[in-house]
Amino acid sequence: MFHAHLINDPASDPGVYLKLKHRREALLFDMGELHGLAPRQILKISNVFISHTHVDHFIGFDHLLRICLGRDLHINLFGPPGFIKNIEGKFASYSWNLVENYTNDFSLSVTEIGEHTQISFDYSCRKGFKAENNGIMARAANDNILERRDFNVKTACLDHKIPSLAYRVEEKEHINIMKNNLLEAGLSPGPWLEKLKEGIRNNKPNDMPIVATTVEGGNTAISLGKLKASIVKISAGKIFSYVADARYNPGNIKKILYIADKADTLFIEASFLQEDYRTAFEKYHLTAHQAGSLAREAQVKNIEIFHISPKYKGCEYLLHAEAQEALRGM
Ligand SMILES: [Zn+2]
Repeated sequence: MFHAHLINDPASDPGVYLKLKHRREALLFDMGELHGLAPRQILKISNVFISHTHVDHFIGFDHLLRICLGRDLHINLFGPPGFIKNIEGKFASYSWNLVENYTNDFSLSVTEIGEHTQISFDYSCRKGFKAENNGIMARAANDNILERRDFNVKTACLDHKIPSLAYRVEEKEHINIMKNNLLEAGLSPGPWLEKLKEGIRNNKPNDMPIVATTVEGGNTAISLGKLKASIVKISAGKIFSYVADARYNPGNIKKILYIADKADTLFIEASFLQEDYRTAFEKYHLTAHQAGSLAREAQVKNIEIFHISPKYKGCEYLLHAEAQEALRGM
């Protein structure tokens, strides 16, 4: 389960903070101005996903670096082609002659995602953020860029006159044990339930035996299928999608529909009103109507728009209304 919110108001710099519930961990999507986050929130960030490095989406890197420096932390960053050069340019703009004796070591893994490959470099404070351990991997369009025990992240490369990555977080299904049914079956909770969950997660065959603990403290082998049918409740995981700057064109439409497909929450840029669709097209941005219509087609439950152009200052509600109406097909 997660909770996501815009760091700034929808007419200011982009950035979405996604807190993983029940965990001291958060994901960050784009980092414009980050002062809206408390340091304790920044210190929970484990992975940062950047759409593109226009200044309004990336200027927060310095603030993140400043807060994390001198701490034992590791952060993964993902970004579009050219991202490694941008990150190294940030490091190169400071002097690092006194960091080798720091007690704690802040380190980063930076991954640049291309169409067919992804390249990673590691950097650590004590080594003056010099690039090391590079790895290059082939990748297919639908591959996960991050795989965790309880969620995966996918990306698609949109056209914003430069590559602009959209992201999709798919939480894995929840496997809950129904306590009452467990006791009624004469079984007692214990580490064996983790083995059962692991078996279900990995699609093991129904006849696989699981050694369960009984209420009397003994052991008994029961098939995975039988346990699944009697004591397990499986609920679908949530989907979160993030679509930043993109022009409304056929290639982008197809990719946005893939990224946003049946999302519970979609954060999507909507810079202009539909009446200004020509300006939106020229500037490689979406209108609020386009954002809402795409969400409707992708069967998204909720959308939140951001990146509203300053020209609508004081009238931002018009863009919110246009997007919501399009989402509901009004
Ligand atoms: Zn932008």
